[in-house]
Amino acid sequence: MSVTAAERRNWQDGSLSFEQSRRAMAEAARYMPGGVSSNLRAQPAPTPLVFERGDGAYLIDVDGNRLIDYYLGLGPMILGHTPADVIAAAAAQLPRGLLYGGQNGLEAQAARMVCEMVPCAELVRFCSSGSEAVQAALRLARAATKRRVVVKFAGHYHGWFDNILWSTAPPAGAEAPVPGSLGQAEETREIVVLPWNDLPALQARLAQGDVAAVIMESMMCNSGAILPLPGYLEGTRAACTAHGTVLIFDEVVTGFRVGPGGAQARFGVTPDLATFAKAIGNGFPVAAVVGRRDLMEQMLHGVMHGGTYNGQAVNMAAVVATLTRLRDPASFAGMERCGRRLMEGIQAAFDDAGIAAVVTGLPQIFFVGIGLAEPPRNWDQVLTMDKERYIAFTTALLRHGVRALERGAWFLSTEHTDDVIDATLEAVRHAVTEI
Ligand code: PMP
Repeated sequence: MSVTAAERRNWQDGSLSFEQSRRAMAEAARYMPGGVSSNLRAQPAPTPLVFERGDGAYLIDVDGNRLIDYYLGLGPMILGHTPADVIAAAAAQLPRGLLYGGQNGLEAQAARMVCEMVPCAELVRFCSSGSEAVQAALRLARAATKRRVVVKFAGHYHGWFDNILWSTAPPAGAEAPVPGSLGQAEETREIVVLPWNDLPALQARLAQGDVAAVIMESMMCNSGAILPLPGYLEGTRAACTAHGTVLIFDEVVTGFRVGPGGAQARFGVTPDLATFAKAIGNGFPVAAVVGRRDLMEQMLHGVMHGGTYNGQAVNMAAVVATLTRLRDPASFAGMERCGRRLMEGIQAAFDDAGIAAVVTGLPQIFFVGIGLAEPPRNWDQVLTMDKERYIAFTTALLRHGVRALERGAWFLSTEHTDDVIDATLEAVRHAVTEI
């Protein structure tokens, strides 16, 4: 995706305006709480943006700004905003009907592809959102073990439902589960929150013998892009096996993003169950719970799972097209290289400006933390980053034509080619001098 000289000038002087977005948001707020459809979209400075269309690595907003996008729909758009093959597959299905209240052949085709790509996937059940897939996994684990307690980790996010929205962003050092919302059902007996990357703490808790499931982001992506410490996933796997606990990897972010087989293939540790969403359908609302046959087949023997829209035909056509591209390792080679270039370039820009910052994670999903001296290993360390200065940074970047998440995460797509990375790094260098 090439960059015109006019766009480059625009970015250099950092003069983009977002007035039309501001106006449209004010109008929308008359009819929608905060003008948005998800709380996670209400915050960004200088105003939540309103978009007209996407184009590869770019989004065009209602002010006519052409922005290099690193939100990527909060992760899904791994093939960029307008992949011709995925769009064609969905368009071909549209006139054939959307929802049959029965099976369509594309579901089994998509499920087979998932089973061929993902190590733990012996069977697949499609869902309509990541939050729902997590609910299905927890239910399967509790049914199989006849236990109630679920261990999760501080700073990990597994959807917005009451039973799991605990300690997603707790105060430092909090040990008791912290609810993520007002109005949330407060049954804390069944949730235990531990610090991530702390194997002895997990081993000690599992030894009590009452834990149905351990659920984790196998790479901590919702807060920082924190990698598991060497041996941590292996040790977790062994402890879960030893104590009869079901290990669930929530791969809603990492799935089909950090490699064709997700984090479990990249790190070489196979969970019992895993959840997928986001990149599986490149923006179409699809999710899946996958895993061991005996666990999954409980759905035939008393474990309820439903969903009117699950496996909807247009969505499944998009999944088949998306996975056809993502099962080819070549799709990842470019992202690995360009992502690494971008990570190194951002790190160098901060180093050269004498601003303490770390860039950490993997090329397809990484994290930039201002004020950190070394890569964080858990939530409490993420909390020490200079959040205000980081938001000043992303706000400056936006004026230079680059849209990156305020919480520090950067998502890459196959459309973020070398010239897009060059333009991004130019904007980064400008933004760094402005903070
Ligand atoms: N798990 C993880 C790891 C996620 O990142 C998210 C969404 N950000 C979810 C679950 C929930 O998925 P959804 O928003 O599709 O319900």
